Amino acid sequence: MTHQNSSDSGRRGGWRQWFGLVPEAEDDEGPIEQPQATAAAASSRDPTAREVWLPAKRRLLGKVADFLIDHDLEVLPYTLGVAYDCVTGASPRLAQLILERTEKGMPITIQWLEEVGGEVSRDKNAEAIANLMERLEDSLDEFGQATSGARTATSEYNSALQRHVDDLQQVSKAGMVISELASLTRAMMERTRSIEGELARSEKRAQELQRSLEETRRLADQDHLTGLPNRRAFEHLLERELREAKLAHEPLSVAFCDIDHFKRINDAHGHPAGDRVLKVVADTLSRISDSKCHVARHGGEEFAVVFRGLTVEQAWQKLDDARDEISQRRLVNRANDMPFGRVTFSGGVADVFAYETKSAALKAADVALYAAKQAGRNQILIAGQDPEPIREAA
Ligand code: GH3
Ligand code: MG
Ligand code: MG
Repeated sequence: MTHQNSSDSGRRGGWRQWFGLVPEAEDDEGPIEQPQATAAAASSRDPTAREVWLPAKRRLLGKVADFLIDHDLEVLPYTLGVAYDCVTGASPRLAQLILERTEKGMPITIQWLEEVGGEVSRDKNAEAIANLMERLEDSLDEFGQATSGARTATSEYNSALQRHVDDLQQVSKAGMVISELASLTRAMMERTRSIEGELARSEKRAQELQRSLEETRRLADQDHLTGLPNRRAFEHLLERELREAKLAHEPLSVAFCDIDHFKRINDAHGHPAGDRVLKVVADTLSRISDSKCHVARHGGEEFAVVFRGLTVEQAWQKLDDARDEISQRRLVNRANDMPFGRVTFSGGVADVFAYETKSAALKAADVALYAAKQAGRNQILIAGQDPEPIREAA
């Protein structure tokens, strides 16, 4: 136990300063005197000095005694030294540690004092501190690379560690810092483990979220009745195909198709039956779709189609084939076996690059559809071309 021996000379000097009898400079360079001798000398120099230092000495000894009593410590040279260091402020670090421990309701024992006091007074652990710091820095590096969340936590620890590094440079009794660094390391490891768990959970949640977003996007782009892309999705598809067609110098056509007299089907068979007819038409039309041809439900009983890589005549042919197929079928209402009669649709198709803008092309296709209706329905018209003779079913 080197603590009390190594501090004795400092304490003796401290007596004199604490009593306010000797200037600091003199204490640093001058001879070390016992308090009594100092008092006697002081008193011989100045008769009033005794009146000054005696109450001061009483107060100091009272504080030392209070310290030992408060902490239930035996009166030993070592504990007296510790008490002195604490009450005079000779060891602010030790005083602080004692205060912290007392506030936590933990006892100040000789064993604990020896542990922390011995460490506080020793500098020989500098190498261990350096190693510890190195390991901590490595851990911090790894920790910092993990994720941004981990980096935030690491920076907190970094600042704490930095404070201790500063302490190491300033406090000669650096050993105290080791135990703090050790608990800091433990805390950091625990935090790292918990962050790892949090990250794994976050990653899982992020993947789930991504899947739900994809599903939501898919549903948002899809018409729930027919499963076809909806109007919004069609606009994106058209935009994409337009870009592709321009890049590849391919032709591009758009078409609108509308079921003929669909209101009559609803009126005669009911809305659910009308839905089933809508699905049949959608299925038939969707069969012409491929990577360059997209069929969408544009709304109500109307469909939009985009064809890339086909001339407007080829696009017309594909649509007309679908129209023909539908018109050849004899659909029956499975709810009551009543025939729907002939289900037909009309369409208008336009060559996109024949128009200045995409909207102008869409408008032209719509006008062609209207013309097909006007021309007797159950036909597809190419925008800008004359309608075929009326062939509407009776
Ligand atoms: P046209 O040949 O001129 O197109 O005549 P139409 O009867 O098909 O046209 P109109 O616009 O008069 O009526 C369309 C009908 O389509 C009215 C509407 O109730 C029906 N409809 C729209 N969407 C749906 C749907 O999702 N399901 C059902 N069952 N009917 C729908
Ligand atoms: Mg219609
Ligand atoms: Mg319509």
